[in-house]
Amino acid sequence: MTDRYAVFGNPVGHSLSPRIHALFAAQTGQDIDYQAILAAPDGFVAAVGAFLAAGGGPARGANVTVPFKEDAFRLATRRTPRAEAAGAVNTLSFEADAIIGDNTDGAGLVRELKNNLDCDPAGRRILLLGAGGAARGVLLPLLLENPAELVIANRTEATAVRLALEFGLVPGSAAGARPTPTGFAGLAGRAFDLVINATSAGLSGAELPLPISVFAPRCVAYEMVYGRETPFMNQARATGARVADGLGMLVEQAAEAFLIWHGMRPRTAPVLAALRSTS
Ligand code: NDP
Repeated sequence: MTDRYAVFGNPVGHSLSPRIHALFAAQTGQDIDYQAILAAPDGFVAAVGAFLAAGGGPARGANVTVPFKEDAFRLATRRTPRAEAAGAVNTLSFEADAIIGDNTDGAGLVRELKNNLDCDPAGRRILLLGAGGAARGVLLPLLLENPAELVIANRTEATAVRLALEFGLVPGSAAGARPTPTGFAGLAGRAFDLVINATSAGLSGAELPLPISVFAPRCVAYEMVYGRETPFMNQARATGARVADGLGMLVEQAAEAFLIWHGMRPRTAPVLAALRSTS
């Protein structure tokens, strides 16, 4: 019997997760069936129920993408600390007596930075742009890496303030790693070693009102959006920053989910190379 997995989303046709997990499975010799499932906007729980009840092999796990990460959070009967911190779940594991909810986005970003981009967050001045679901998901894992400082800048400053207050005292992180909030205007004259764009501005081609000072010499600029060149990437490149898009984070968060489900970590470099060669 082949173990079954799925990614739930709306839309979901564009999702690279089935391909990524098929490549991981081929690499590690796992026999899996991984489907993309389009759920109605109010039909996430029903869609998961149908997936669990379907024949074939046992349903073992699921990834969850926009707009269902909060639904998945509520559906989980047990959640990991990083899922609790994120307030969102992107990875479900189906066990006999429980649905375990986890969030692998932050771990995926940290692995991408440390292992693939040689950019250890420890001791760096980090600017996190955005205060939505993606920013929230990566905040705890970033803080636990003990950056020198972490500033959250958001178009709607009040949302950044709320997020910073919520994450104000993270057990295990250095006191200097408490996040400080600001609007974009408050970034004038500030400089950072790592600038992470967790806004969705790039999806609509909108340019962020960033002073060029934010990109310090040898800065790494990380754009979470992938599959396109965004105004943020152009802004950063023009200052000489090293620029990366979010495809590596996507592959790393998938590898983290694969590890949870299969107990083994797949190699990500060949999968990332395969995706880049066909994009
Ligand atoms: P949300 O809708 O939850 O949040 C959107 C954020 O972007 C808010 O902070 C919003 O600010 C800001 N924003 C939107 N448009 C603009 C603009 N024109 N100018 C300035 N700020 C803007 O989205 P998510 O947090 O879930 O996702 C953000 C991005 O991250 C998406 O593009 C998604 O594709 C990407 N992502 C990538 C992942 C990966 O693995 N690579 C994983 C997860 C997400 P405000 O509060 O003012 O509205």
